[in-house]
Amino acid sequence: MKLILLGAPGAGKGTVAKLLTAIDGSVQISTGDILRGAVQAGTELGKKAEAFMKAGDLVPDDLIMGIMEQRLQEPDCEKGFLLDGFPRTIPQAEQLKELLERIGVKLDMAVNIDVAREVILDRLTTRRTCVNPDCQAIYNVKSNPPQKEGVCDKCGSDVVQREDETEEAISNRLATYNEKTAPLIGFYDNEGMLITVDATSSDAVINAIKANLD
Ligand code: ADP
Ligand code: ZN
Repeated sequence: MKLILLGAPGAGKGTVAKLLTAIDGSVQISTGDILRGAVQAGTELGKKAEAFMKAGDLVPDDLIMGIMEQRLQEPDCEKGFLLDGFPRTIPQAEQLKELLERIGVKLDMAVNIDVAREVILDRLTTRRTCVNPDCQAIYNVKSNPPQKEGVCDKCGSDVVQREDETEEAISNRLATYNEKTAPLIGFYDNEGMLITVDATSSDAVINAIKANLD
């Protein structure tokens, strides 16, 4: 399957993407994970992106499009891909459309994962992430803590609160979402590609996606 996952920070795009990869081997492509990996590795891309990310601001469109133009043409994308955190702005969506036409790829749909603001705030402040760039497992101190506090069950690395998950950075990320990313819902609705699902449980989201794929 070839999907775009839309939704506010904390809507559960990453969790849903991971569950979907298990269904048919489609790859999860998270621009946030790619960027955090680049920051930790200290690459040129990481150096350019770091300050924007810490503040909860978006990384410039041209950097993101450069990453995605390459990523979408890697062989593992042929089976399918789940775009998690991209596109994030109308210019990114327009350039993605042009890129996919150029490389002859057709998307199945854009899934808008809809969650109440209170739920999102609660999820983000309690979220913890594995620091290992190759793992990046996500935990929640209330609903899904690691077995040993602060240690990743999967790889043994530290599990921490992300720097952009302080209250100030979170409220900035939500404001940025409302201003820059929420308009994509209308964009994909106009393209006739949008489904909206209520994200109270990830199983419900998965089932709605499956039902729309057949
Ligand atoms: P979230 O948990 O907010 O969905 P992500 O892990 O997707 O966060 O992204 C973390 C940060 O990486 C964003 O706040 C932003 O700075 C940057 N980022 C990720 N994807 C994009 C994108 N498509 N365009 C611009 N910036 C991005
Ligand atoms: Zn880990």
